[in-house]
Amino acid sequence: MKTAGIRAGPGGVGPAAPIQHPSGAATTETQDEEHPVSTGKGIDTQQATHLAADDDQPPAEASADTGGFKPDAELPAASALGAFLEAPPSGTPPEVVEALTLMAGDPADPLPPRLYFETVEQSPVAISVTDAKANILYANAAFEVLTGYDRHEVLGKNQSILSSNATPESIYQQLWRTIQRKRPWTGVLINRRKDGEDYLAELTISPVLDAAGRIRYFLGMHRDVTREHELSVALRQQKTRIETVLDAAPVVVVLLDTDGRIILDNQEYKKLLGDLRGREPLALLRSALQQQAGFDPLERAAAGEGFRDVEISIEVPGNAGPRWLSCSGTAVNESDSSLSGYFIRGDAGDQRLLLLANDITGRRREIERAHLENLRARLAEQQLAQGMREALTAASYQLQVPLNMIRAASGMFKDGTGNPALFADMLGQITQAGETALATLHAAMPTQVPEAGVNVNVNELLRHVLALETDNLLAAGIVVDWQPALVLPELSGHKNELRSLFKHLIDNALQALYEGGGSQRALRLATRALDDAVEVIVEDNGPGIPSGLRLKVFEPFHIGWRNRRGRAGMGLALAQEIVNQHDGAIEIDPDYRDGCRVRVTLGNVRARD
Ligand code: FAD
Repeated sequence: MKTAGIRAGPGGVGPAAPIQHPSGAATTETQDEEHPVSTGKGIDTQQATHLAADDDQPPAEASADTGGFKPDAELPAASALGAFLEAPPSGTPPEVVEALTLMAGDPADPLPPRLYFETVEQSPVAISVTDAKANILYANAAFEVLTGYDRHEVLGKNQSILSSNATPESIYQQLWRTIQRKRPWTGVLINRRKDGEDYLAELTISPVLDAAGRIRYFLGMHRDVTREHELSVALRQQKTRIETVLDAAPVVVVLLDTDGRIILDNQEYKKLLGDLRGREPLALLRSALQQQAGFDPLERAAAGEGFRDVEISIEVPGNAGPRWLSCSGTAVNESDSSLSGYFIRGDAGDQRLLLLANDITGRRREIERAHLENLRARLAEQQLAQGMREALTAASYQLQVPLNMIRAASGMFKDGTGNPALFADMLGQITQAGETALATLHAAMPTQVPEAGVNVNVNELLRHVLALETDNLLAAGIVVDWQPALVLPELSGHKNELRSLFKHLIDNALQALYEGGGSQRALRLATRALDDAVEVIVEDNGPGIPSGLRLKVFEPFHIGWRNRRGRAGMGLALAQEIVNQHDGAIEIDPDYRDGCRVRVTLGNVRARD
């Protein structure tokens, strides 16, 4: 390893011209003058002695190889020097004696002067010493490694040899302003290595003063902080990304310590704060969880426990009803940021609560609305059933009258006791009573409310019907093969009617599978997009429909089931009507041999509908 020393100039050094460190504790100046860092210590006077030079002379030049530092005991020269200095030969110039005295150091001092040089030379920090104009007088080995320059290449050159020209001029101006005020400066510059690669240098420059308090040298110490910079940029980017994601999330997110202090929150939290007109949402959420769910989220977090999807409601001023929130909490252990936590790994950090609150007011209202609608529909159904029961009771009572008269007339007819005029009168009464009963029945007939045509997704309707039939399918041990088209055009249609169409076809398949009695009962439902239409297949592996009945099954009141189970034989007739309204067709596939396959095509509902 090549090393370069600095030796005293021809003017020599002596006690008359000691180099002094700026007196007192000078403030270290940094790039940001508002934020001074810790006090600089400057150069030890003994080390500085090596650098001392005559005011008018260039103070240094490269010396021969100095070698590594060795303990005093291994330096016989030191004791020889000691002997020399004890009795210097007459005629030895006093400056030489003084210089050698300084070099030899104090035998009582365990730290010889050379140690200071070796310390600098072997330091892992790039160190350079310049004259007052920043011309390099000395550079240590670490300087060579970091900059790529051999020290002989830089000696006598200005430190600006390291400049990449990318550091703003204002930084240099600040640097020079500071060091010329005899204050240390610390900052970051963009340097360029000999091989042309740029790096970020964190540099500290300390002025070194002479006895008269004039700046004679500068001590520069710098290290490569590129990696730190890259890491801090990556950290900032990561933070920005996380904040962006958090702020974009349509969920309240807040991170708390176990005392309930907010460490981080997102836009939704701030929005809730605004909606609550300044009342702290956290306090409300916490007390709602305590009162409505029976636990304190902070206590949970302190115990390292979380919770999920707990629904609570809070009152928000100006809102028609309460605001419903689904809350989840995760206990987070944040690594200890105190110095004592530096060497400790694991979960010895601080306990935090990550609280998420999702506004589910819309969903809750929807459920409540659906519930009400359901209730209303059930009430209407009950009312309808009650009305029909009453009407049927009345009609059957009214039918008793013509029936009794028919019985009486038929008895008289058999006995030959009646006469045509009497029979004519009786027939008139029978007709009138029959018409009254019929009118009662007609009046009880529920009026059909025409359904509006809306955009329907056939897959979705089929899925709903399947969901309704799940229990029946499971009970019958039927394997369902559901093959919806991945993309299906929406049709304009009557939702309820289409639902009852599908329900009817599935119910028929179920009945067929019951009656077929096979052990491997299978139901296949499939949809397919056609031009401007949708095809639906409902297929079962039951007994199938004989070819002679394939059209007849669509006639009203046709019943082919062995077990009628309260069926009226109107299902397929009504199915046909619904399909017709949707400009479609329904058929029993004649080519299907393993059971029954019903093929339905549906187009857009016709205009009247
Ligand atoms: P320059 O013209 O040299 O300087 C730019 C500005 O700095 C000038 O406009 C002026 O405001 C000011 N300035 C420069 N020299 C003086 C001066 N003698 N007195 C007063 N003001 C002055 N620079 C680096 O880029 N990288 C380093 O690692 C580095 N290390 C340094 C170590 C020490 C110990 C010292 C004393 C300086 C160091 N410098 C370093 C600064 C360097 O000397 C140059 O000032 C800088 O590189 C800009 O060089 P330049 O040629 O672009 O412009």
